[in-house]
Amino acid sequence: MAVPDELMEILRCIECHSQLDQRDAELVCRECGLHFPVEGDIPVMLPESSYRPEGP
Ligand SMILES: [Zn+2]
Repeated sequence: MAVPDELMEILRCIECHSQLDQRDAELVCRECGLHFPVEGDIPVMLPESSYRPEGP
């Protein structure tokens, strides 16, 4: 499972508008650490789907 590079270049964090890194089955914001799930190679860029892992 992978999000195409072209899409990764376009996608931005919905909170801080920074670029995202692909990490396992999720996209992670480089700046604020917000996580976005990827379902069937399609990133879900919705406020209600995004989250920040709690704790260290
Ligand atoms: Zn962000």
